Amino acid sequence: MSRPLNILFVSSEVDPFAKTGGLADVSSALPKAIKDLGHEIRIMMPRYRFIGERKFRLHDIIRLKDIPIPIGSASPIVNVKSSFISNLKEKVQVYFLDNEAYFGRDGIYQNPTTKKDYKDNDERFTFFCRGVLETLKRLGWQPDIIHCNDWQTGLIPAYLKTIYKDDPFFRTVRSVFTIHNMAYQGAFGHESFTKSGLPKELFSTDGVEAYGKFNFLKAALYYADVVTTVSEKYAEEICTSDEYGAGLNGLLASRKKDLHGIVNGIDATLWNPAADEYIFRKYDAKSIEAKDENKKSLLKRFGLEFSDRRPVIGAISRLVDQKGFDLVLEVMEDVLKGDVQFVMLAAGDKESEKKFDQLQKKNAKKMGLVLGYDEELSHLIEAGSDMFLMPSRYEPCGLNQMYSMRYGTVPVVRATGGLDDTVEDYAGSGKGTGFKFEKYDSRELLKAIQRALKVYQQPEEWKKIMRNGMQKDFSWEYSARKYINLYKDLLRP
Ligand code: ADP
Repeated sequence: MSRPLNILFVSSEVDPFAKTGGLADVSSALPKAIKDLGHEIRIMMPRYRFIGERKFRLHDIIRLKDIPIPIGSASPIVNVKSSFISNLKEKVQVYFLDNEAYFGRDGIYQNPTTKKDYKDNDERFTFFCRGVLETLKRLGWQPDIIHCNDWQTGLIPAYLKTIYKDDPFFRTVRSVFTIHNMAYQGAFGHESFTKSGLPKELFSTDGVEAYGKFNFLKAALYYADVVTTVSEKYAEEICTSDEYGAGLNGLLASRKKDLHGIVNGIDATLWNPAADEYIFRKYDAKSIEAKDENKKSLLKRFGLEFSDRRPVIGAISRLVDQKGFDLVLEVMEDVLKGDVQFVMLAAGDKESEKKFDQLQKKNAKKMGLVLGYDEELSHLIEAGSDMFLMPSRYEPCGLNQMYSMRYGTVPVVRATGGLDDTVEDYAGSGKGTGFKFEKYDSRELLKAIQRALKVYQQPEEWKKIMRNGMQKDFSWEYSARKYINLYKDLLRP
């Protein structure tokens, strides 16, 4: 098929409108890359309160006003607003599904103060899933493919195969579902199932039920025409082990022929050290000495002293079990005994935040810490650090290791998921792009850090590793083509 495809991309987070993690980055960069390859792609997402009307130039779509969405026996209303994400060549249209009661809140999934999930997340995202399909019908724009992402969109494939199955508007539509993280499944009680309006018989292990719960992710894995995930290694891991597959590995293994690993790219315009407006001094592979000025600026920001040739280790992360920062807590005091500094930007579970705060206070001269979310600082850390830590327990793809390589900041990572696929372990003689360790064990992490610190003492060798990373092509085009081929395969008669 050579005609341009129509694709609807559905996500609960899209950068720059709403972001808690990598999903948001992918949900803007991938559609942009697909559009650049000549296809028509539009995005739908919820309109959270903080997506300001003026800031993002939202406008109402009058003909998509007051659309009733069946939720249990009620019919809450969705209104649709529209804006664009700009692209170098073309813009991608974004539709925002607006309902004050469900989305007029300060958080995306949880209350930002209590850090507790909203109790009605089941209803909010049931409304969103069904709202997407009802909005499409009203819009009259018929996609070839609906590309859904993570559990918040998980009911869409199930609706398409049941309630909307005989609807002429959707008859030819195919669904693709991308897993960004198996750990977040959206599992709720039976009463949530009732609100979804899905046929009764679907509440079964041959359907949307997993372990007695109504599971949105399971619904997607069961009903989507094709399932993808964000690296080849993670695609393997989630089929083979209970730990990675989070209880759904059996189902995934049974769908193995429909499961594809396509590694994420990075938005090479946003994450480009030669054009980054957030950093102190722009640079590229030919001017890596300029990194030192960013290092000075970074250390100043954290109130730390700069010294030539003293390595700075950086970290930017959500603080959750997945990211492996319990290992960092176990080894960092040892690491900091040497002539190194550590800067960290993180937010997440309160217990870990407290522990890192204590660690910082104990090592105030060598460690800087910002607990919170700060886009600008995240760029400066990438630009100003020498090494970057990602000791994840599991990592579907991971973006920061790729940002790091692009910025000549050598990643130290655990060999799991996308970290394993994208980082090449240092092999001596100037070969490799980072340092990897296999076993989830703090001694292994320590060894990897020490290995990196040792090579750092050989400036010429270190520069080669930096350049190897900076010269790698992590742009989206390659992966976007893979998605397009997948869409085309699905549409073949
Ligand atoms: P995940 O999606 O699991 O959090 P990724 O590595 O795929 O992990 O993506 C994380 C994204 O979120 C990156 O763009 C990273 O820079 C950003 N990020 C994470 N924590 C913070 C923070 N505290 N402040 C700013 N950006 C952050």
